[in-house]
Amino acid sequence: MVTKDISEKKKLEISLKDSEAKYRDLFENAQDAMYTLDMNGTFLAMNNVGIDALGATKDEIIGSNLSEWLTPESMEIARKRLKEYSNGIHKGPMVYEMVRKDGEHIWVEVKNRFIRDGERITGTHGIARDITEKIRLEHQLKESEARYRDLFENADYPMYTIDMNGIFQSINNAGCRILEAGKEKIIGTHIVNWLTPESLESAKQRIKKHLSSVSIEEPVIYELVCNNGEHRWAEIRTRPIKEGNRITGIHGIGRDITEKIKLEQKLKDYRVKLERSYEELLEADNVKTEFISNITHELLTPLTSIRGFVELLDDETMGKVNVEQKKSLEIILRNSDRLIKLIKELLDTSNLENNKLGLQFGLVSLNSILSKTIQDIHPQANDKQIIIIKDIQQLPEIWGDEERLLQVIMNLLINAIKFTPHTGKITIKAKEDSEHVKISISDTGIGIPADKLNSIFERFYQVDGSAKRKYGGAGLGLSICKSIIDKHYGKIWAQSDGKGSTFHILLPKLKNKEGENNV
Ligand code: ADP
Repeated sequence: MVTKDISEKKKLEISLKDSEAKYRDLFENAQDAMYTLDMNGTFLAMNNVGIDALGATKDEIIGSNLSEWLTPESMEIARKRLKEYSNGIHKGPMVYEMVRKDGEHIWVEVKNRFIRDGERITGTHGIARDITEKIRLEHQLKESEARYRDLFENADYPMYTIDMNGIFQSINNAGCRILEAGKEKIIGTHIVNWLTPESLESAKQRIKKHLSSVSIEEPVIYELVCNNGEHRWAEIRTRPIKEGNRITGIHGIGRDITEKIKLEQKLKDYRVKLERSYEELLEADNVKTEFISNITHELLTPLTSIRGFVELLDDETMGKVNVEQKKSLEIILRNSDRLIKLIKELLDTSNLENNKLGLQFGLVSLNSILSKTIQDIHPQANDKQIIIIKDIQQLPEIWGDEERLLQVIMNLLINAIKFTPHTGKITIKAKEDSEHVKISISDTGIGIPADKLNSIFERFYQVDGSAKRKYGGAGLGLSICKSIIDKHYGKIWAQSDGKGSTFHILLPKLKNKEGENNV
């Protein structure tokens, strides 16, 4: 009997030891920290995970008080919690902030239960899980959210979010400024309240596109209707807000381009006005050209007739005239010529303007033009005792309008005489090189200031354009000469060193005998 009892006890002892060993093994090798505390908060046991988590040795932890390892705030919570727990109030796990031996803070999620000896509570047993990484991530998330909110609120650019029905979910301060309304007036309202019908339509299309997952890179311009009824314009970029794969809203960032749009509108108005003015001007110019053309014809016909009859009187075809009468007739003739020249210049100018100066091209001998014109101006040169020096080579025929080229040379010679004082000298040179023929007419006259050498070829330009000017003319001759030479693919220019002037003409030579290909 006794033997039997002893063997029963032994068995019990063995199985207790066994279960203790199992428990110890579980305790030591658990994945979470485990510990026991007495009712004063003194650690009675702690497993390896717990010891590692606190970064201390077992000796340093066992026998130490919980308060040495918790922040004061967490200790306070723990105390409260213990009280609630002992009063039978059960709550879920708690989060405590602990201080490791090296001073670093860690966060643990703790589940506790009482250890009882019969009815008496002798301590607590706890399991703690290190959730430092989770807490750190939560902090980071909160911080980044705060930073995003700050950026969102205080950005210079208007920003907003809407849901897929077009209801404003949020809008930042710049967005409120552009709509001239407070957040409370905008959030929760539909975009229909803030857009013109055309812009609303385009916004709806854009929402549809986002829904069908089409990526939209290019911005859109919306015409906004502000709180005070004023219209403003914003250039907006949008992107979908996604929750997983689902699109839940649209985020928009804009730029106020009202000033730019208004300026563009003004510019457009100006352009329309300018185009209208230009058309009117063109119309007026045509009327003027037409008028000059008609009036010059009307003037020229009777004047030519008058000159013809005066010439008949002057050369005594119609009977003898006395010396006094002849003098008067010659004055009439000279002035008629001046008038005819002026009217012809006006006619040429108006014909040049509407491209009606029909040139008649053919083979032209510049030598014969030169001798003809020199002969014609001899009397005028003689009157002023101006000597004419000729240095003229035999030139090849060129392709041109004989009458017009004669007009050019005549004009230059008349100018040379006009601007050269008595007893001056005019030199006429003509030569050729491989590609051109060149004619130069130099005088010893008043010369042309260097800065006017180009302007004299402009219409109506005269070096002395004052009312008291010494020399007559309308300032048209050289501009006509230039147009004629241009139409011959040539060049005309003036040179002056202060003592006299030289006018040069360069005309292309014929490339082949037929000549037509030349022009
Ligand atoms: P205009 O009939 O008034 O002479 P042009 O077109 O023939 O008009 O000449 C324009 C201007 O060029 C003249 O008014 C004059 O000032 C200047 N000019 C032309 N030829 C000469 C020259 N040989 N010597 C000096 N000035 C000249």
